[in-house]
This record gives sequence, structure tokens and C-alpha cells, in this order.
Amino acid sequence: MSTDATPALTDASFDDLGLAAGVLEAVKELGYETPSAIQAATIPLLLEGRDVVGLAQTGTGKTAAFALPILSNLDVYDAAKPQALVLAPTRELALQVCEAFERYAAHLPGVRILPVYGGQGYGPQLTALRRGVHVVVGTPGRIMDHLEKGTLDLSQLRFLVLDEADEMLNMGFAEDVETILADTPEEKQVALFSATMPAQIRRLSKKYLRDPEEIQVKGKTQTAANITQRYLMVSYPQKVDALTRILEVENFEGMIVFVRTKNETETLAEKLRARGFSAAAINGDVPQNVRERTVNQLKDASLDILVATDVAARGLDVERISHVVNYDIPTDTEAYVHRIGRTGRAGRTGDAISFVTPRERYLLRAIEKATRSTLQQMHLPSVDEVNATRLSRFDDGITAALAETERVEFFRDVVRHYVEEYDVPEVDVAAALAVVLQGEEPLLLEPEPERPVREDRPRRDRDGRDRGTDGRGERRSRDTGQPMATYKISVGRRHKVEPRQIVGAIANEGGLRRADFGNISIRPDFSLVELPADLAPETWAALESTRISGKLIELRRDQGAPGRRSGGPRRDGGFDRGDRDDRPRKPRHKGPRD
Ligand code: AMP
Repeated sequence: MSTDATPALTDASFDDLGLAAGVLEAVKELGYETPSAIQAATIPLLLEGRDVVGLAQTGTGKTAAFALPILSNLDVYDAAKPQALVLAPTRELALQVCEAFERYAAHLPGVRILPVYGGQGYGPQLTALRRGVHVVVGTPGRIMDHLEKGTLDLSQLRFLVLDEADEMLNMGFAEDVETILADTPEEKQVALFSATMPAQIRRLSKKYLRDPEEIQVKGKTQTAANITQRYLMVSYPQKVDALTRILEVENFEGMIVFVRTKNETETLAEKLRARGFSAAAINGDVPQNVRERTVNQLKDASLDILVATDVAARGLDVERISHVVNYDIPTDTEAYVHRIGRTGRAGRTGDAISFVTPRERYLLRAIEKATRSTLQQMHLPSVDEVNATRLSRFDDGITAALAETERVEFFRDVVRHYVEEYDVPEVDVAAALAVVLQGEEPLLLEPEPERPVREDRPRRDRDGRDRGTDGRGERRSRDTGQPMATYKISVGRRHKVEPRQIVGAIANEGGLRRADFGNISIRPDFSLVELPADLAPETWAALESTRISGKLIELRRDQGAPGRRSGGPRRDGGFDRGDRDDRPRKPRHKGPRD
């Protein structure tokens, strides 16, 4: 719990919450102007006598949310037995809660608050208890000790608070908490605060709270559950390409791409426009009126992608933003929370994708820790995925155009005339029109270099047998006839490796000839290479220290052949659509514009 954090405040007024005059006075003196969200929601309920479950973290102002109503309802003239008990997971938290109570009770003379935690001698605690206190704040273990010893009498308890309940259970206090809940008077009011709501806490709340009102607030460093958070490991030079692929396959409506510097907003927006996307930059240097116009364009869908700095995107609230991309991962976690909060507005779901370079892993960990959430690793969309999406989009374009019946009617006559005049099949005419439409730009991305180093059409023996294998199915070199095997190396597409680099490095350092290489298949994280089955020990030894793109290749034998994967180009020059028909349609998708 940081004491200097200011919670997100509301426009409500403390005056309207129904607090006791003395409590209100203390709050005003502390300089609290307006209640925080959790306070505005919780205080009236607790004053009414309701049980409350508050999903709130430290920093939201939750301590005052329970302390102020408890103090307002205390019978200050009766200190014989504690009226309120707050259970906290740690001694530090117990002490801080105590101090907060003291501050809020500054104008309630005679109110006594006692911290009770392990590690402290029993003596002072016993003396204070005997003298009488109004409020006890303690850790469950030590409270249990006192209950067992009969030195703490909770028979007059009216308020019980479980603070950071999830932490208490994490620390192994489940049984103690439950015993305390069960052994205190039926007629007490219970407030449970927790940053998370695991099943165990739900069960506890169901069992021991009476028809509780559940209140949820977003803390400064709490991320909303309706936002899916992912990250992609990329190297710096890969970023533009990675973003382009994501833009192609992700089902997005509006997007903010966050970068670190003003200059980068301009250059990246320019690169995206050059690739056919509808993108604009906003940063602190862009005049306010231009910024507003750009944001309005994003709102009315005449713009899809905003490339922004933190400053420029402050407070941006556009429902259409389905995605936030942290092109540069932010260095502080509050910025992260603010950035991803630009999506998932107005009860919608949102997606946040963060690019993480290998050196920035620690930032990822810091974000996960501070937001108490786990970011899912995602993989760079493959060429096959991009192409499948492009084909889907191509189909969708035809479907949409067919719906424009009048215009289709007109062109049907034009096409019919051509078909009759030139005696060409209709499908050929359609294909030719697609060529016209597409212009010079190919519809599909080039397949990734999975191609073999040389022509891979199997040659046939005189008797028609595939020379790639011998009669027993053992693979042999098509050139030299020697037995071949598949080897795996630890460099792949991610390392930007190409077949010629693999041949170059292995041939040079392992003393092999070009003829010793069979098929090479480059996969995202590794590659498969066909080499002679009986590599000489000197070759193994020499290749032990071989690097490609700076990475040790870690040569080892692999099972299976480096075959093709589905979804690539076919020999006849067509395209194998792979599994694209199983892909869900992407109505939100915005592809590159022509
Ligand atoms: P908590 O979430 O209870 O740990 O409170 C976080 C910090 O916010 C503490 O330093 C409180 O003193 C402060 N605080 C709580 N409520 C308010 C408020 N309504 N206005 C300003 N500061 C507040």
C-alpha cells in the first residue's frame, strides 16, 4: 500500500454520503475533496447496514471506504469490548490500516484503535485489550491466538472487515479467517475487500455474508478483465513487418498504436499509409485542432489507425478502438494501464498487443507483476495465415459486390457480350477482371523460404523409381546417391535466416559440398536440413561452434523429412488454401486500402 497514491476520484461529495459529523470533519482536514469510486459506492451501503464485497486494490481508497462508515456508526462511549475487527494479511497492512483509522478518528475523542499482530509481545496487547478498545486491526493468526487464550472477546462485535482477502488466503490464513467468521456474532456486518475473486473467496462470501452488494472498481494499476492482453517477442527491425501482419489478420475496427517518440509517430504512420492502411499520427506537437479532427476521423471510421504517444492519447475515449498495440512497450506500468484502457470502452471487449524485444523482457515482467495479470504470448502471423485472410477478404469483396444487384445487372450484360464475342469461359473473364482490379500488387505474399536449395522435383530412375529414396524407403541424395538424413538447427524464420546462409555456413565450416545438401525447410523457430546420414565426426565437431545470424545452430538429428506444410503454393502455380475455410469470418477486419 503506497501512501502517496491518490485514488481515482468521483464528482460525488463527502457531504452527501451520510457520514457522522466528526468523521466528515477529519476527512476535510485531510484534504480529501471528493470520494473515490469505491468510497462513493461502499460508504452509503455500509452506513445502511448492508454487507459488501469490494473488488478493489490498494490505491483505490478502500481503507477509508470501510473505516469512515465504521467510525460513523461506533458507539464511542462503549469501549468495553471491541465493536469492529479488521483482518489484514500482514503486519504492515494492519499498521497502516490502524494509522488510517486514527487519522479518520481525529475528531472522535476517546476512540481507541489497537493493532494486533504476531511478532509483537503479548504484554502491551493484553493491557490495551483489558483497558478496552473500539476497533482491533490484526493479522488472523494472532487474533486466533487471543481468541484461544480468551484474551479477546468478540461477543459484541458489530463490524468485521476482511482486507485483502485474497492475500490472506494466499498466505495460508483460510482456516483462521473462517473460524473467526464463524465464531463472531450472527448479527454483525461484514465487508470483504479483495483485488481478485478466486472461487474460494466467492464461497466464503456466500457462506458468511448476508446478501452482499458487490462493488468493483478499477484501480490505477488494475487492468480491466474485458481486455485480452497479449505480447509478441520481436526484434527491433522486425516490428514494422510484424505490425503489418497483425493488421492483416487481426479482426480490428479502430486501433491505437503507441510509440515512444513524436518522430516515430510520423514515420510509422507514413510507413503504414505506404502499405495501404488508413493511419494518422498524433503527438504533442500536432496542434490541438488537428488532433481533434484526427480523433473525430477515428470516431466516424474515416480513419482506422492512430499512431500516438502517451501524451497525445491521454484520456482518449473512442468506442471504436478495438485494439491497442504497444509498438514500443511502455517503461512504466501506469502508462501501460492507461494505454490499454483506451480499448474496451463502453462495455466492449478489447485487445492489447505489446511488442517486446528480447532486452525488454524485464518490462514485461514488471507490467505483469504490477497489474497482477498474465500476458499471453502470441506468434507472428504466418504467411499462410496472412494469405488465407487475404483470400477470405477477396471472397467477401465478391459477396458484397453481388449484393449490389443493379450494378451487377449492368455489368452482367457487358460480360455476357464479351463472352459471346470472344468465346472465352466466364471464369476466365472473372479471373481477368480480378487481375485488372489487383493491379501490379500480388494478391498473396510470397511463401516463406521453405524452398529447397535446388529443384526438388523427384527424378525418376530408368525403371520409374523415385531416386529420392531407395527401394527400402531409405532416403538417398538425388545427386550423389548417398544416404541422407534430416537434421535440425536452432535458427529459423524468426532469426531471418535464408537457405543460402544455411548452405554457406554448414558447407564452409563443416567441409561439405553443395551436393551434400538436400531439402531445407525453414520454420519459425528452427530449420530442417537434409545432409548425408553419416556425417563425419570432424564435421560434427566443426559445426558445434557454427553460428548463423549470431546464433549457435546446435545441429542435431531430427526424425522425419523436411516436407512442406499445408497452405503453400502448389506446383501448378495455384494456391493451396489450407484450412482457411475453417477460419471464422472477420467482419471487423480492415485490410489495406487500395
Ligand atoms: P488506500 O487504497 O486505502 O490504500 O488509499 C490510498 C491513498 O489514497 C491513501 O494515501 C489515502 O490517504 C488516499 N485517499 C483515500 N481516499 C481519498 C480521497 N477521497 N481523496 C484523496 N485521497 C484519498
